Amino acid sequence: MSTARFWRENPSRYNLTAVRCGVCKRILFPPRSICPICRRKSVGKLEEMKLRGEGEIYSFSIVYEAPSHLDKMKPYVIAIVQMDEGVRVTGQIIDCEPSDVKIGMRVRSTLRKLGEDGESGIIHYGYKFIPVKS
Ligand SMILES: [Zn+2]
Repeated sequence: MSTARFWRENPSRYNLTAVRCGVCKRILFPPRSICPICRRKSVGKLEEMKLRGEGEIYSFSIVYEAPSHLDKMKPYVIAIVQMDEGVRVTGQIIDCEPSDVKIGMRVRSTLRKLGEDGESGIIHYGYKFIPVKS
């Protein structure tokens, strides 16, 4: 991901803001200025909304190798989370052992301090996901 794209998407990464298309009601995350389905019809009809922050793990991978400054974090889990609103969000799963992560597990987003701001363009997430204890 380019640095420019990272900064453009950063506000939504920070607070899980999405937009809902007023024409087809589709929820778009990260937010866009135009609905990819309705295109021109959607201009001016996209409403900002905040995702509730809960969902379930759709898929995940365990990362064993990481850039050296992330050494103390590894192995760590990156998952695609299917939010209750239907959109999929990629984020790190924390507060549990990688071996405990399962597809379908309920998680909720939590805001965590961003990682170090290296010059290498490392991806930072404002939110991470923790298991919902049932
Ligand atoms: Zn639409």
